[in-house]
Amino acid sequence: MGIETLPSSLQVQPALKQIRMELEDCKRCKLHMSRKTLVFGEGNDRAVLMFVGEGPGYDEDVQGRPFVGKAGQLLTKIIESIQLKREEVYIANIVKCRPPQNRNPEPDEIAACLPFLQKQIQAIQPKIICALGTFAAQSLLQTVEKISSLRGRPFDLRGIRVIPTYHPAFLLRNPEKKREVWEDMKKIAGWMKELGLSVQSEGTNKR
Ligand code: SF4
Repeated sequence: MGIETLPSSLQVQPALKQIRMELEDCKRCKLHMSRKTLVFGEGNDRAVLMFVGEGPGYDEDVQGRPFVGKAGQLLTKIIESIQLKREEVYIANIVKCRPPQNRNPEPDEIAACLPFLQKQIQAIQPKIICALGTFAAQSLLQTVEKISSLRGRPFDLRGIRVIPTYHPAFLLRNPEKKREVWEDMKKIAGWMKELGLSVQSEGTNKR
């Protein structure tokens, strides 16, 4: 009798668990000194669409979950604007520990943490990544271009379509930019349709 292979949907969860175990009580960069909780990421292990932000803020650090503060509530609305539920996508950050006083993550911190996000992406295999804000876009795309020029443009990341847009925290301070994010979300919805991926499903987005 041949060796049975598990369906890929059952293999992904252990892969993410393995990455979380590798991180353990991570002290690879100085952000470990001030964090309360390491915020790994959450959502659908087989998500077609993944959102990547900058790093945890106060609420995320306390709760151990990404995007749960005011900016998180806005992200949930943004996701729902294309008829998806928050639990249907996967949400993670460039750095998994909160930078003190919500300062920007520093290059050495991004360099230490980014490989784990890359492993998460490899495990989940999304078709589309929406990069939220400067640090997510610049780190994923390895560029120093400003978010204002990256926003709304499609990029290819080893076969994954990446679209940078503004960070929800930026939108809270600049609500007039919401229209541009809405345009970007419409592009994502269009790509999902183009790829034969439903955004009108009853529970899950389908590959
Ligand atoms: S930010 Fe990333 S690399 Fe730095 S301590 Fe936290 S988990 Fe480790």
